[in-house]
Amino acid sequence: AKSCGRNESRFFSSEMNQLAQERLRLENALREALQDNQLHLHYQPQIDLASGRLYGVEALARWTHPEFGVIPPVRFIPLAEECGLIGDLGRWVLREACRQLAAWRAAGLSVPAVSVNLSPTSFHNLDLPGMISDTLARNALDSADLTVELTESVLLDTHPSTMKTLTEVHARGVRLSMDDFGTGYSSLSYLRRLPVSELKLDRSFVADLEHDEAARALSGAILGIGKSLHLTVVAEGVETPTQNEMLREQGYPVAQGYLFSQPLPPDEFARWLGTAVE
Ligand code: C2E
Ligand code: CA
Ligand code: CA
Ligand code: CA
Repeated sequence: AKSCGRNESRFFSSEMNQLAQERLRLENALREALQDNQLHLHYQPQIDLASGRLYGVEALARWTHPEFGVIPPVRFIPLAEECGLIGDLGRWVLREACRQLAAWRAAGLSVPAVSVNLSPTSFHNLDLPGMISDTLARNALDSADLTVELTESVLLDTHPSTMKTLTEVHARGVRLSMDDFGTGYSSLSYLRRLPVSELKLDRSFVADLEHDEAARALSGAILGIGKSLHLTVVAEGVETPTQNEMLREQGYPVAQGYLFSQPLPPDEFARWLGTAVE
């Protein structure tokens, strides 16, 4: 694994040196966090718009450092990538999300499935499919209980194992979901090559729905593409009742966003679910 901050400090101006040191501190902190349970998952509901019922939950990683405080995923996910910790992080997320799903069910909550985010690097690992199956089995879960979200960048990086791993995960019955759909370079050509079952309309389209006719046209077109390929299309980042209504009129089957709930810690999510289904 690559190490960050290994560059010799004499090549740095003192300011750069300070940055490199801060980075190294953060890298070590992340390594520690993975061992010491400083990482947590929050869960955001995905709503089946036809029935109003829960369709699934997305697990999102959270890190609160005892000293540095809350460090957002946009900061620590890239750090984990660069420092060779992303494999460990992905495995931890998978295990924790599956453990939590099983725990909710044991407590009598009906949660249909959990989605986890995996970075492109995780798909370099040919052991991933087996690891996923083991994790599911250990929690007495079925492959249909898990969805793995990936971004198109999974195919921008040309690692030889990626396609094999994706195909094998799919073959085992775990659904693959294309995250942030519509923002990448060549979304459409990837759709033909990737065994995905779900698309997530990027939230930038949803944000512009109310005021931008082009965004409206595109969200409709993306739904059309998804439908014709028999994919579930999930609208992300739904914040207002108007956005929700527009998406529903367009025929979107599933939506997710602050309108329904922010990502919540497990106990708060269970409470939310309790009141939402009453
Ligand atoms: P993402 O997978 O696209 O996740 C959705 C992000 O949008 C989350 O940010 C979520 O909190 C936020 N969000 C949800 N609803 C709304 C809404 O209505 N409005 C707005 N403005 N935002 C909303 P978060 O949790 O900060 O995560 C950011 C990104 O970090 C994620 O984007 C994902 O790419 C990455 N990430 C988070 N957890 C993990 C993880 O466990 N593994 C990996 N590899 N990446 C992760
Ligand atoms: Ca996601
Ligand atoms: Ca997304
Ligand atoms: Ca994103």
